[in-house]
Amino acid sequence: MSLREQLCEYGRRAVELGLVIGTSGNLSVRQGDLVAVTPSGAALDRLTPEMCPIVDVEGYLVEGELQPSSETPMHLAVYETTDAQAIVHTHSVFGTVVATTMTELPPVHYNALLLGGVIKVAAYATYGTPELAANVRAALEGKRAALMANHGGVTIGATLEQAFESTRLLEWLCEVYVRGLGVGKPTILTEEQLAAVVERALNPPEFPRR
Ligand SMILES: [Zn+2]
Repeated sequence: MSLREQLCEYGRRAVELGLVIGTSGNLSVRQGDLVAVTPSGAALDRLTPEMCPIVDVEGYLVEGELQPSSETPMHLAVYETTDAQAIVHTHSVFGTVVATTMTELPPVHYNALLLGGVIKVAAYATYGTPELAANVRAALEGKRAALMANHGGVTIGATLEQAFESTRLLEWLCEVYVRGLGVGKPTILTEEQLAAVVERALNPPEFPRR
């Protein structure tokens, strides 16, 4: 699948899964110095490959008739300082709830380790600005995901599939936490409990053979 075809595929899935409503999210995928990104103002479930602009890492438009997503500067800033090859940004409901009410998402489930443990909420700044890009970059340091205050969430990956799965996981973790708050006080896993999970994952026990 070409980079642009991938954007169409995962844009469609993001809408189908309810992670994105209409035009409220953007995806990008990188190859070398080029980045294919979803266009500004287009519904993510109605993209065609030709609609998706290609920019270079310096932010110049290389191919495409439509303007790149307004959040492209944030994507480029993240590519500049991480090993990300793909980025997914959405305004998914539970991610946005947490990003509107908290400064970080505490690890209430060990799967949070797949995203780097505690998920930070990047300080608020107007969408599309260099300030927002810098805040997101800081919140992502050493992580695969971040939330953006009063805005949404962002995940990175080695492939668009990975970044997309991380967005699903981020939303799931936020939903568990928010629903947990409705029932009682969610227990937060300790450093020790999380370290034990890492140890277990690195050294899985083998089943004995007969
Ligand atoms: Zn946004």
